[in-house]
Amino acid sequence: MKENWPGACGLVLDEPLIFEKGAKGRKGYSLARLDVEEVNPENIWPRKLIRQDLDGFPEMSEVEVVRHFTRLSQWNYGVDSGFYPLGSCTMKYNPKVNEDLARLPGFARAHPYLPEEMSQGALRLMYELEKFLCQISGMDRVTLQPAAGAQGELAGMLMIRACLSDRGNPRKKVLVPDTAHGTNPASSSLCGYQVVQVKSNERGVLSPKTIEEKMDEEVAALMITNPNTLGLFEEHICQIAEVVHRKGGQIYCDGANLNALMGLTRVGDMGVDVLHFNLHKTFSTPHGGGGPGAGPVGVKAHLADYLPVPIINQDGERFYFDYDRSKSIGKIKSFYGNFGILVRAYAYILSMGAEGLKRASLVALLNANYLRVKLKDFYHLPYDFPCLHECVFSDRLQSQYGVTALDIAKRLMDYGFHPPTIYFPLVVHGAMMIEPTESESRETLDQFIAAMAQIAGEARTEPGLLQNAPHKTKVSRLDEVLANRKPRLRWKP
Ligand SMILES: *Cc1c(COP(=O)(O)O)cnc(C)c1O
Repeated sequence: MKENWPGACGLVLDEPLIFEKGAKGRKGYSLARLDVEEVNPENIWPRKLIRQDLDGFPEMSEVEVVRHFTRLSQWNYGVDSGFYPLGSCTMKYNPKVNEDLARLPGFARAHPYLPEEMSQGALRLMYELEKFLCQISGMDRVTLQPAAGAQGELAGMLMIRACLSDRGNPRKKVLVPDTAHGTNPASSSLCGYQVVQVKSNERGVLSPKTIEEKMDEEVAALMITNPNTLGLFEEHICQIAEVVHRKGGQIYCDGANLNALMGLTRVGDMGVDVLHFNLHKTFSTPHGGGGPGAGPVGVKAHLADYLPVPIINQDGERFYFDYDRSKSIGKIKSFYGNFGILVRAYAYILSMGAEGLKRASLVALLNANYLRVKLKDFYHLPYDFPCLHECVFSDRLQSQYGVTALDIAKRLMDYGFHPPTIYFPLVVHGAMMIEPTESESRETLDQFIAAMAQIAGEARTEPGLLQNAPHKTKVSRLDEVLANRKPRLRWKP
């Protein structure tokens, strides 16, 4: 087993910058010999339209270009290459059938300005996806427009603000727990609210008493993440919602962690007024590389008038964009969001079915709890309770040897594993947040546990090994502060 790490061997080729390769006069194409007289472009085109030579522009053959980019692509690490337990990110496997369907020409090539009569299939898909998301979450209506979770948060907060303004007072503050994702306070603040942090209790969840103390007529909303970023279910959410509602506030639920709940429970039944989904986490879209995402937002009926325009409605057999909505917060994304992501989510939901979605969540919970129980022999588990989809350890046991969460994360790369999320959530000092997802086999989890156990041993016996890790990667420990402060963005100094 020990010699069998996924990262222990391999033919990994070196590759310089493209500017450091090639030779003068080399070309990536060849054309047939001219059978007409050659003309100097400067004699027929204005000079300013002719491309001038760029100093240092790489000149390469076709195979050199192909190898350059192929090698770089092989250095990329993704869930298609291995285990990717990045907490709060749900880096699960995205079935290729959903990619196939998103590439069907009728979807992939549909122009966003096609008239409604010619887009009935696309409109129907979005209409039905909205219905599926309502069913999964217990919300009444959903906008599919936002391009990411964070944009969904802003859209949701804008709707809350618009609704409260209509009721006479937009209010001033938003309560945000200390376990919240950084985007929550940012969205509240962008929406013009003052952020008030609330502390989670010794069990890692919010207690109704704390909210009662902070809740007043100035508070517009509580933004709560469920399950929270400790991977724990906010078990008092119904009671907390009552406290907030009694004083006229709204409950915003960050649903980025919906992978833990599908088919098991519905956020909409817990007193939540607004909820965003991360389709690119839970519903089958490769993410993490900066590509497009989708962060639909679900609302309860009393907020439906404020949804961004357009919404999609049905009139007999016909689906149409409804722009005629005077209370709407307006348009928040060009066209109608990132349609390709919506196709993947639709295909994923249909191919899984209700039972399949529930099973995915159950296996995600099982995998996280398996890691939690097996790893707590080696790492400090600050909240030692059954978790949902992820678990959070700390570097406390290793810090006595001068080893930090960063060192442990870097050393994991030597064993061929993508590191977990570290130093988040902020309530845990030296946090290591592990989310295995439902995609991983028992063997992969056992290999990861063995690597983590080995690293815990190294921390005791050979801390230096960890402090300089990684050793087997193409570059070793980088000066991250310098890279942030003085990024070298040019190839020439
Ligand atoms: C990922 C995440 C977000 C932000 O989603 P983006 O799509 O990256 O904007 C917000 N909250 C939580 C809890 C998350 O995990």
